[in-house]
Amino acid sequence: MPQGDAVLPILNAWIQRALVEGWPIALTRDWHPAQHCSFQARGGPWPPHCVAATPGAQFHPQLLMPAGARVFSKGSDPEREAYSGFEGISETGQRLGDWLHKQGVDRLYVGGLATDYCVRATVLDALTAGFAVSVLRRGVRGVNAHPGDADAAISHMQAQGAQFIDG
Ligand SMILES: [Zn+2]
Repeated sequence: MPQGDAVLPILNAWIQRALVEGWPIALTRDWHPAQHCSFQARGGPWPPHCVAATPGAQFHPQLLMPAGARVFSKGSDPEREAYSGFEGISETGQRLGDWLHKQGVDRLYVGGLATDYCVRATVLDALTAGFAVSVLRRGVRGVNAHPGDADAAISHMQAQGAQFIDG
């Protein structure tokens, strides 16, 4: 995706801040079987990506991954698309929303890829689950498969109550 890497310094700065503040850190990722329904070979919209346990599913090597960060994997069911991080499951079988509630979290700071898909779905699910959401404006990038998709996603997230912040 164009400029996808550009989110890294922003995400890393917020991960550092979370460490300083003692905030929980959740990392979400696609973790697809090789024949996932979202892949073009099966009529889906995407080229093969993030196939579980392959290099394509790894986090970017420059992303800070503190020891206490919890990883949530989604999209493991070959027949189901899963854009939202709230569909993610940790290695210990915990769902993202349950884990966040257990940590006492009430506000999420969200960044990553892509604005018009996984960020959008994650933010909307977070709002539905009762979290306040701040989206890191410079820490997200859109696919824009159709021109304006990312801007439309931002407007929709804002209309649903998400705050967009700089920094
Ligand atoms: Zn995917």
